[in-house]
Amino acid sequence: MEKQFNSEEVIKEFEALTKDAKRIHIETLKQILKENSEAEYLKNLNVDATTDLETYISRVPLVTHKDLEPYIQKIADGAPCPVLTGKPITTLSLSSGTAQGKRKFVPYTEKLTENTMQVFQTSFAYRNRVYPIAKNGKALNFLYSSKQFTTKGGLIAATATTNVYRSPEFKQTMKSIQTPACSPDEVIFGPDYHQSLYCHLLCGLIFHEEIQVISSSFAHSIVHSFRTFEQVWEELCNDLRTGILSSRITVPSIRTAMANILKPNPELADEIHKKCSGLIDWHGLIPEIFPNTKYIYGIMTGSMEPYLVKLRHYARDVPLQSGDYGSSEGWIGVNVDPMSPPETTSFAILPNIGYYEFIPVSNVDSAQNEPKTVGLTEVKIGEDYEVVLTNYAGFYRYRLGDLVRITGFYNSTPMFKFICRRNLMPTINIDKNTEKDLQLSVETAAKLLTNEKLELIDFTSHIDLVSEPGHYVIFWEVSGEPSDELVKECCNCLDISFVDAGYVSSRKACTIGPLELRVLSRGTFQKMLDHSVQQGSVLNQYKTPRCVGVANQNVLQILCSNVVKSYVSTAYG
Ligand code: AMP
Repeated sequence: MEKQFNSEEVIKEFEALTKDAKRIHIETLKQILKENSEAEYLKNLNVDATTDLETYISRVPLVTHKDLEPYIQKIADGAPCPVLTGKPITTLSLSSGTAQGKRKFVPYTEKLTENTMQVFQTSFAYRNRVYPIAKNGKALNFLYSSKQFTTKGGLIAATATTNVYRSPEFKQTMKSIQTPACSPDEVIFGPDYHQSLYCHLLCGLIFHEEIQVISSSFAHSIVHSFRTFEQVWEELCNDLRTGILSSRITVPSIRTAMANILKPNPELADEIHKKCSGLIDWHGLIPEIFPNTKYIYGIMTGSMEPYLVKLRHYARDVPLQSGDYGSSEGWIGVNVDPMSPPETTSFAILPNIGYYEFIPVSNVDSAQNEPKTVGLTEVKIGEDYEVVLTNYAGFYRYRLGDLVRITGFYNSTPMFKFICRRNLMPTINIDKNTEKDLQLSVETAAKLLTNEKLELIDFTSHIDLVSEPGHYVIFWEVSGEPSDELVKECCNCLDISFVDAGYVSSRKACTIGPLELRVLSRGTFQKMLDHSVQQGSVLNQYKTPRCVGVANQNVLQILCSNVVKSYVSTAYG
């Protein structure tokens, strides 16, 4: 018989794990080493199931993805022996690699599916206490599948989310927590995300009264979906009225699956049409059209924060629930505080899914020896660290490249806030701006757009090191056409809003040139997304790269060839 999901049981389990975090954490490392002791990587380092923690740390070096590439390549080429894990790896994930503009292959194992379910169920249990989902509820999940590649050695590679959605465990878990997707699998796994998105929206309308949760992996994709809704709502109403799917849907499997649920329903079409026509600037779109939505769920922290303004505009009073924290390499933290708004969301570390270490931020860039790490229960509240991961999927002391700030402890496991990805913005002189500084500066300057009733659709940057001296270039896509005056004002505001002392002094000494603001034509970020999907990314896992380097030539080309207006800052004279 199917096991019923029991929130209180899951919470009890989490309480027990976090009360005994230190011991469980060390046990987890032992178990990881035991399961993987046959792996070539560990054998080369003279590490096996009997290795104690101290010896593990002294023998295993801290590594980045680059260090693991030869091993991952060997796996992709079909190595017959265990390379990184005890059991052979049969699937790879393609992680976003947005910072470097280069996609990364990482191992995917069944253990990651298991961890994903534990993370989903834990955060769901806490959410469900506050916002219980009614029986027979449905979710409007904007889920997509990426292209699948086959490596030279015959392994399947797709994005991590695609690997998760394809697993039977995922479907089972969503069913058990009463939020099965309203869209058929053919829509989720369709080959063209534009068509899938249209059908997700149509399914959402068909089941609009049953929809309890609206979600996607990242907030960007939820906002993107409703921006699309603004464009296609009349066509959707027409499909509802006639029961005939728009001719824009050409994939036969999607057409067949949709035919089973789309029936002529003129009353519903009229109702939706009336509601949409009555909305002012689409404010409150979500509660108007999906009146039983309990909350909107997806990762809303970090590089997703800039989409919150628009998401709140659509959501009105529907609560936003920020998702958990992880990466294609593995999960790290769970959001167990559903009452906290995304801006203050902290994550609690699950001590039984990996072994975590932390590099104090002052040591992160240490050029000399290996930076020292501190253990899970030794971190200090208020301090910043880079996360280091050891898990069942073949990562041993792996530097994730993300910076986090410890905000407290949940029982004895640390809670942290995501700050930013490390080294996203290259240094020109002695400036030390991060992705977060860029976000704050853009947030401040974008407020000026409201003077002309405009909004910022999305943004990115490029550090121009070719010109002398080098300077920051910020790209903006705006909802309309800003006046020259306004662009000037925003550009100067951006320049002075970077408050890092190194930047300010370099600007004053002219060792960093004036910041440049380039306004892009409408649809440029859509072109970037399309390009990324073409390269194997997927809409629900997509993160707009916040700094595009020269290594990412194709994207830089898209940006540079779509500039409609630009201005050079005069803020520093
Ligand atoms: P990917 O490379 O596609 O697997 O994305 C993983 C990266 O997404 C992480 O290393 C983080 O930089 C970011 N990320 C994942 N979860 C969160 C979160 N909850 N908040 C902020 N950023 C996140």
